[in-house]
Amino acid sequence: MKVLVIGGGAREHALCRSLSQDPAVTELHCAPGNAGIAQVATVHPVDQLDGAQVVALAGRLGAGLVVVGPEAPLVAGVADALRAAGVPVFGPSAEAARLEGSKAFAKDVMAAAGVPTARSYVCTTAAEAAEALDAFGAPYVVKDDGLAAGKGVVVTSDREEALAHAAACERVVIEEYLDGPEVSLFAITDGSTVLPLQPAQDFKRALDGDQGPNTGGMGAYSPLPWAPEGLVEEVLETVLQPTVDELRRRGTPFSGLLYAGLALTSRGTRVIEFNARFGDPETQVVLARLRTPLAGVLHASATGTLDQLEPLRWDEGAAVTVVIAAEGYPAAPRTGDPIEGLAGAEAADGTAYVLHAGTRADADGRVLSAGGRVLSVTATGADLAEARERAYRSVELISLDGGQHRGDIALKAAQ
Ligand code: AMP
Repeated sequence: MKVLVIGGGAREHALCRSLSQDPAVTELHCAPGNAGIAQVATVHPVDQLDGAQVVALAGRLGAGLVVVGPEAPLVAGVADALRAAGVPVFGPSAEAARLEGSKAFAKDVMAAAGVPTARSYVCTTAAEAAEALDAFGAPYVVKDDGLAAGKGVVVTSDREEALAHAAACERVVIEEYLDGPEVSLFAITDGSTVLPLQPAQDFKRALDGDQGPNTGGMGAYSPLPWAPEGLVEEVLETVLQPTVDELRRRGTPFSGLLYAGLALTSRGTRVIEFNARFGDPETQVVLARLRTPLAGVLHASATGTLDQLEPLRWDEGAAVTVVIAAEGYPAAPRTGDPIEGLAGAEAADGTAYVLHAGTRADADGRVLSAGGRVLSVTATGADLAEARERAYRSVELISLDGGQHRGDIALKAAQ
């Protein structure tokens, strides 16, 4: 099978790494990719938001499967263009991807499907926003209705700040605050059958101790030793399957990766958000533990044959990923800095490796930072403590001027 991956972050590097280890994959391509992906796949400089360009590339390559990584091309209809051209594609239609692209749409689907989530109001004026904030009380949760790469949400006890965020967005969803730990649970679906993956937890704030601004994600780990038994089955039954069934009922079946961001609150499991694609950085740790070759799983989603797949096999051990971000991330990341020590940071036995996020190679082959999140240093181990130790040992071997990372990824869970 010839496979083309769309995207160029650490999530796509993780996907490419797994696909490159799948014996069924005869050729691996990625567009646009990055400096790390170029080591395991042939990279192509195409505009990932341009469906016609992606279809043309897939045709030229004779791709038997296209995997769309990020949300932006999905919302732009790239999966639709590929499907229309008869190319098997892993990723939902633009219509189904609204589950991520519009918070209001997601709330509507959840209400219809009976999926437990925070109570909410959709507001377009300052007066509506003020009324909704006062109805719920502090802490306030204000979400931009559009795509915001995980950065459109403000959670604050400061009413003025909540109002200011609402005023800065055209349409906001204001909702009740959910207490309790968060879990990311991914499921692969073909629009009917739903195959949950292993749960993971990510770290959204920039600084240790969950301080500082919200980011795209600073690290992740899997499994979750503290999670209640039966969590995956419960979420499959109460969240994932009803959502997939509701979208099919509406005539807009969702196929691809359904990501449920959950809060395990004192009143039960609630959906915080849906995403329509693999999460970054949770994908790095989930795929690190998946033993079933990846291409066949994604192809079964693309071709509507997930019901025929053998149960997934998982590594019993643990995985941890630590993101190295550029100076100034998330507000104003500095790019163009050289990154040293990459080769030495990888373990010869494959238990620690470096996934590239925002990187590019210069004319001399040096790797430079090219984005806010630069690297995702990933390690596996018998348990979280061992995986953590290996990940941080590798992080210490990498130098990036002004680079920042959290020191407490998976710390509590490993104790
Ligand atoms: P989202 O983009 O919806 O995932 O939100 C980003 C982050 O904001 C989440 O990971 C949570 O930490 C936080 N958040 C979102 N909604 C809520 C809520 N209703 N209650 C508490 N925290 C929330």
